[in-house]
Amino acid sequence: MDISYIINELGEDREQYFNAIAPPIMQTSNFAFKSVAAMRSAFADEYSTYLYSRGKNPTVDILCKKLAALDGADDCLVFNSGAAAIFAAVLANVKQGDHIISVHEPYSWAKKMFTEILPKFGVSTTFVDGTATKHFEQAIQPNTTVIYLESPNSWDFVLQDLTAVAQLAKAHNIITICDNSYCTPLYQQPIACGIDIALQSATKYISGHSDTVAGVLSSNTHMIARIFKSEYNNIGSGIQPFNAWLLLRGLRTLPMRLQQISTSTKTMVAFLKNHPLVDGVYFPLDVDFNQYTLAQQQMKGAAGLITFTIKANSVKAIETFCESLQHIMMAVSWGGYESLIIPKCAGLPVDSFDAQNPLHRSLRLYVGLEEVDYLIKDLSKAFATLQP
Ligand SMILES: *Cc1c(COP(=O)(O)O)cnc(C)c1O
Repeated sequence: MDISYIINELGEDREQYFNAIAPPIMQTSNFAFKSVAAMRSAFADEYSTYLYSRGKNPTVDILCKKLAALDGADDCLVFNSGAAAIFAAVLANVKQGDHIISVHEPYSWAKKMFTEILPKFGVSTTFVDGTATKHFEQAIQPNTTVIYLESPNSWDFVLQDLTAVAQLAKAHNIITICDNSYCTPLYQQPIACGIDIALQSATKYISGHSDTVAGVLSSNTHMIARIFKSEYNNIGSGIQPFNAWLLLRGLRTLPMRLQQISTSTKTMVAFLKNHPLVDGVYFPLDVDFNQYTLAQQQMKGAAGLITFTIKANSVKAIETFCESLQHIMMAVSWGGYESLIIPKCAGLPVDSFDAQNPLHRSLRLYVGLEEVDYLIKDLSKAFATLQP
């Protein structure tokens, strides 16, 4: 299916709503029936009917059709956050006594679920270095039911070989889940690699405007219907119609936003690599990245996020660097129109700072939609504060 068709037309039945170009926001909690028989069949199969908006809603449905098609999946579910999508995907595929294998540093709230919530219900998790598929193989136990991946990671961009891990998992009847937030389905297709569930935080590139928190999981019809009938409706964190509409609006410009950001990011990577006060630059499609070959094989592109280390000998120097930026804002998240930065040291106690540890001197930059020269000028002023 053409991406333009998916984004502009798929799922939109304009004759149903006065041929309006923009789809309506069906801001309703419930739907009326004309007969008991119709109500009975809705109760029997809520996955195929409009009954109550915690389940199906027409505005959300338009969005679902597009997002599932972008993922190359049969169907998808959209949640009120990426974290809720992760929770439902995992919860749906474990029971008491089961075992999960996860990459070392999954998204922080995924990790909390593995280390704090699931152990309460007898589900254990082994964390492995996902750069070698054999590490997953070595961790498999008879009760392993889920392998959880995130490729690339959103801080250090560590990848897993999705095709190889999916093959290994299939041979052992294990469900694979991959957090694809970094790439979006435009730049990486986990399902085409054999992964069972692709998920992403739609807060990032799908929304694209830093105004909506949302998440999506895509899979085959059987899996989606099963999650819909249980975790989706029971957790009750499905996306609301207005937020679905905002995501539809974000989607219209997704390809060109990613393109613009990719181009700017390339220029930014070159600027940082050549800067005398930078001693490390991490970006998956940079020739010097240590998994560059795998990144080229399984990703069609990379955009936005770059981690770099600066030659600063104190926390104070990093604080001054960040606080002297006038346009690039200090904030979590990414994927919006605005450029952002997070210094690693913001997550560390001040007295634990070790200038010898490059991680402590690292910053994650998100390149937004601004002109790249505007951003480089901003960074150059901040670098000037580091001069001895
Ligand atoms: C932001 C993010 C999430 C969580 O998504 P929310 O929409 O914030 O709940 C999950 N995974 C990755 C990689 C993220 O960056």
